[in-house]
Amino acid sequence: MRANHHDITVIGAGVSSIFFAYTLMNKNQDVNIHIIDIGKELEKRTCGLEDGGKCTCGASCSKYTGFSGLGKSEGKFNYTTDFGGRLHKKIGEDHTLRLMQEVDTILCRFGGNARSKYSTKNEALSSKASLHGLDVLSTEVRHLGTHLSKGIFQSMYEVMRERITFSFETKVEAVTKNKEGFHLHTNKGDFTTGRIVIGTGMSGSDWLTGMMGSFGVHPGNTRLDMGFRVEMKGDQLQAILQETFETKLRIHRRNFEATTYCMNPRGRIIRKYQHGLVMPDGQNALEEDSPSANLNFTLFVPRYYPSYEEAMNDAKKVIGGINGGRDRIVVQKWEDFKRGAPTETLSHNQVKPSLQADCGDARREVPSVYGAALIEFLHALEGLVGEEIDSDTLIYGLDAKFYEPSLYTDESFESEVPGIYLIGDCSGVTHSLSQAAASGIYLGETLASATLYHNLGKE
Ligand SMILES: Cc1cc2nc3c(=O)[nH]c(=O)nc-3n(C[C@H](O)[C@H](O)[C@H](O)COP(=O)(O)OP(=O)(O)OC[C@H]3O[C@@H](n4cnc5c(N)ncnc54)[C@H](O)[C@@H]3O)c2cc1C
Repeated sequence: MRANHHDITVIGAGVSSIFFAYTLMNKNQDVNIHIIDIGKELEKRTCGLEDGGKCTCGASCSKYTGFSGLGKSEGKFNYTTDFGGRLHKKIGEDHTLRLMQEVDTILCRFGGNARSKYSTKNEALSSKASLHGLDVLSTEVRHLGTHLSKGIFQSMYEVMRERITFSFETKVEAVTKNKEGFHLHTNKGDFTTGRIVIGTGMSGSDWLTGMMGSFGVHPGNTRLDMGFRVEMKGDQLQAILQETFETKLRIHRRNFEATTYCMNPRGRIIRKYQHGLVMPDGQNALEEDSPSANLNFTLFVPRYYPSYEEAMNDAKKVIGGINGGRDRIVVQKWEDFKRGAPTETLSHNQVKPSLQADCGDARREVPSVYGAALIEFLHALEGLVGEEIDSDTLIYGLDAKFYEPSLYTDESFESEVPGIYLIGDCSGVTHSLSQAAASGIYLGETLASATLYHNLGKE
């Protein structure tokens, strides 16, 4: 085997790629794998943003790129097909759930069982919620927290690097076809490979679009979720949280569907920086030295755009408009939000804001569908919890969750360019840790099969 040739080159060393390569190397001892990432090794990933300052990274931000990708987060693995992606639509419900079990087994092999798994399922609550026009989404959860999550990925790296070649801080500048498969031109030299597996997640979106475009393949629809983050009294949802700790609720109406996201009992709201935008984000109580007295969540309304550019332009118009070029987040009291009046001050507010934000008229600053969804949802929630939402509840504008533009892949995650596979969030199929990881295992099992072994010309 020539030094610069590999059977499989994985571009991106995030969650999906790690589970892919780990599975493949265990199932096929002979396969020669190269993983290229634009970011750094996990231990070298530091950024000023993590200490509340400015990004100190230059071109590729270590908060989002490098070994483990966005897995360098709170590490909340939700084992469900109710949300977090559409993997089950591609490979079936049972198969998806089996792969999620495998994800959990691997996490536990590296120490994940230091945190117990719990379930949010509650039949009685589901029946009651449906009377008020709400669906309860449920999941099994293993919530690792940032520290344990990082430790697990680091341990996986120690094992993987014994068998896999890693190239960090490496930018793939061009991919072309050759008779062995593909030729990769990078800033660290040239490589050839039989097949390419891409797991570049959200952070590699522009690169992926350009690279696939060079083969004449272009993405289609792009989803963008935007919505207000709500901060309420810690015991406001006691009636529904006493048995479940947290819950995920969805409301459907003729012109929108809205779902709660990232509910943090006793958590705080922090600033999230993505794509040059500043948004209110939830931080779980596990991450804090002193939990707050509040509970927060976002109510996301998904919308679909014909292209990634149009989705980003809308996010930049709405959220960039709020930010005003100075990291501004706007906050409004629920009573003012309902009657369409700006909030002047929060100095005597019962719900103490955990994030410093500018008082104002959050509802007026965003398209009406997001405000309408929140009002309908909170009214339905009042029915479910059997009490009024406190008028001092705080509404922050505006949170967003970005998705990859969809590129076509078949049932094996192979793109329209034969020999190039897309896994995890860049496939447009997954939007969560567990589903991204499961998609990696799925492809790892597929490519480990004897067929590939023959195709790689080793026999
Ligand atoms: C702030 C935040 C918190 C989250 N928390 C959770 C959570 O708690 N639970 C949950 O289920 N989901 C969570 N998610 C979503 C989850 O993290 C992602 O769905 C998951 O990480 C996707 O995995 P992936 O492998 O597709 O991409 P990633 O994990 O993002 O990995 C992509 C990798 O590709 C690399 N890369 C990018 N471009 C290039 C390039 N051009 N060349 C080479 N390498 C490249 C990056 O460095 C990175 O290593 C969170 C997302 C965000 C933004």
